[in-house]
Amino acid sequence: MMVGMAAGGERERTRVVVVGAGQAGLSVSWYLRRLGLEVGRDLVVLDRGPGTGGAWQHRWESLRLGAAHRVHDLPGMAGLGLGFDAADRSAPARDVVAEQYARYEAALGLDVRRPVEVTGVTGLGDGFSVRWAGRASSGAGSAAAAATGTGSQAGSGPASGSGPASGTLRAEVVVNATGTWGAPFVPWYPGRDTFLGRQLHTSDYRTADDLEGLDVVVVGGGTSAIGFVLELDGVAASTTWVTRRPVDWLDQGELDVESAVAAVAAQDRAARAGQALPSIVSGTGVPRTRRFVSGIERGVLVERPMFASIEPHGVRWADGTFAPAGAIVWATGFRPELRHLAPLGLRSADGGVSVEGGASSLDPRVFFAGYGPQASTIGANRAGRAIARQVVARLSECDAARRR
Ligand code: FAD
Repeated sequence: MMVGMAAGGERERTRVVVVGAGQAGLSVSWYLRRLGLEVGRDLVVLDRGPGTGGAWQHRWESLRLGAAHRVHDLPGMAGLGLGFDAADRSAPARDVVAEQYARYEAALGLDVRRPVEVTGVTGLGDGFSVRWAGRASSGAGSAAAAATGTGSQAGSGPASGSGPASGTLRAEVVVNATGTWGAPFVPWYPGRDTFLGRQLHTSDYRTADDLEGLDVVVVGGGTSAIGFVLELDGVAASTTWVTRRPVDWLDQGELDVESAVAAVAAQDRAARAGQALPSIVSGTGVPRTRRFVSGIERGVLVERPMFASIEPHGVRWADGTFAPAGAIVWATGFRPELRHLAPLGLRSADGGVSVEGGASSLDPRVFFAGYGPQASTIGANRAGRAIARQVVARLSECDAARRR
């Protein structure tokens, strides 16, 4: 169903706008559909990505589903004949996730408009004005085309429509599900701007071959950094791995429930307090998978403390030691992407937004799906149901207020 998009002047209305069609946005949308919301009239999903899959569509080519932590199914996937347990582990994870999400969107008949970026959300008293930019093509039909591999958007390929390039959507409730991929974090070190080689963040990394023959310094203590060091071995001229704090290796090959629970609790505390969210890996530790153990035993994974400064041709530690570098890979994480919510003034002095049970503490009509304690595939799924129920309760309150 294509709902006409008004550019500038006349504003289109819906009841709930979901910003972001990753697993968090899709999970909330699934439950909202089950609770009776009608696509278009009640629910519109806007997504900046060119294709389906949320952040997964952008992950590097060599990442496979088995190498990442577990990717949980979206709600209802099994009933639709979809799911990741039986998915192809030899194909790039980005393609597998994009394809499964495309089929899921099609099955739900969702109206996902992409590529559409939300550039600003403003409060209006009785709701919100959601400004967007992009050449939208509407979801239900296009997702179906993607799922069946027909039309111009097969798989995760770019979508483009012929509608207006910008506009405004009015809504009573906003569900923000924008993840972190668009807000890469690179810490500052003296001399960073003087470096003459390549600097890339996880979000720019494509394949080890791009760095062939270079001396590469990889920064970061999470599974992405470790994976980069391993796949650069034998391709780069040399690899140097540095971490800002010693890696907390777990004895077992998988995350244990206890450390995951503790990490989620730490995220929840920070989210409630409106503080910047702590790094997830610092709370969970890194499992000693067989691949990682082999890397340690072969002397490929040798952890060094953080360097003190960056020079044009390498990095230097405080004791004067120098490592040459033609490239620095910053696997240093991401921050929640919330710029477009700035006009709502939800940011606290402590650098975060205060979120309790998925809703803003300052404005209960603004929800944060996939934020803080929900930032994993399983967390986002569980949160979907809870947030959808609260959204419907808010809509009932809006109805009641209008009748008064
Ligand atoms: P995303 O998947 O990032 O989706 C957000 C969507 O919002 C995107 O499509 C984006 O285009 C859109 N968007 C953003 N801003 C705007 C805007 N202003 N306007 C419109 N649209 C916007 N978790 C796991 O559980 N298992 C794993 O194996 C795993 N591996 C990971 C590997 C890496 C390298 C990283 C960085 C994270 C990994 N995670 C993993 C965590 C993972 O990111 C989340 O589980 C999941 O991708 C987050 O889903 P999401 O819906 O919250 O965000």
